[in-house]
Amino acid sequence: MSFLGDYHTHTVFSHGKGTVEENVLAALSKGLREIAITDHGVCGYPENLHPDEVKDYLAAIEESRRLHPDIKIYSGVEANITSESGDLDITEAIEKDFDVIIFGWHSVRIPSKWKDIHGFWLPNVVKATKYSNKTMVRNTDAYLKAMDRYRISILGHLRRQVHIDLDPIGEMAAEKGILIELNSKNIELTIEDLQMLALKGCKFICSSDAHSPERVGDFSAADLFEMAGLDRSLIVNWNNIPVFKK
Ligand SMILES: [Zn+2]
Ligand SMILES: [Zn+2]
Repeated sequence: MSFLGDYHTHTVFSHGKGTVEENVLAALSKGLREIAITDHGVCGYPENLHPDEVKDYLAAIEESRRLHPDIKIYSGVEANITSESGDLDITEAIEKDFDVIIFGWHSVRIPSKWKDIHGFWLPNVVKATKYSNKTMVRNTDAYLKAMDRYRISILGHLRRQVHIDLDPIGEMAAEKGILIELNSKNIELTIEDLQMLALKGCKFICSSDAHSPERVGDFSAADLFEMAGLDRSLIVNWNNIPVFKK
């Protein structure tokens, strides 16, 4: 019994330390059967995968696939939400072509329009310790809109840097088959959250969010799942290979 794949890893194409090939070699050395390369991206932020680099990114993934037919390598992206209408910073082509789309909030990602900076992003940043209920409702609504509009595979590190109402989000995730991430780098979900999400019928995926090859295959976030008294069979990459929506 083991985890068979790591579906959230970064490379030098965003702000990870290793190359695609180094992440793949790390995954192989840990006995994984699958890996996804999911750099931050793609529109505009300096440390993100740049739209002009997408071709090179896919070529690097393709080259590793050619060198290592013994491991399945997915192309992916970790997208940011940039407005209260649920806009993600990915292009249509990426949504269509990439295998794995993770969606996660990152405060460093500043929206490009003043209206969204002022009305959506700023209230989350300046009220870091004292959120208004209005902000939480707006964030939750934006999450639900994004989940409805895009082919999202995984909700990454929920609750990190953002106040949301997990109840309707969990409901929609269960309904649409969007996986809840157990992120070994940033776990903000509580035992109660996990139990509530499991009760709603959500499925989970455990990943490293590795920003260096050494961390590929870190599945320590699964310990919390165990502490919540939940069965690991709810984690799709535990002893199993997940199927991502296309
Ligand atoms: Zn990152
Ligand atoms: Zn990440």
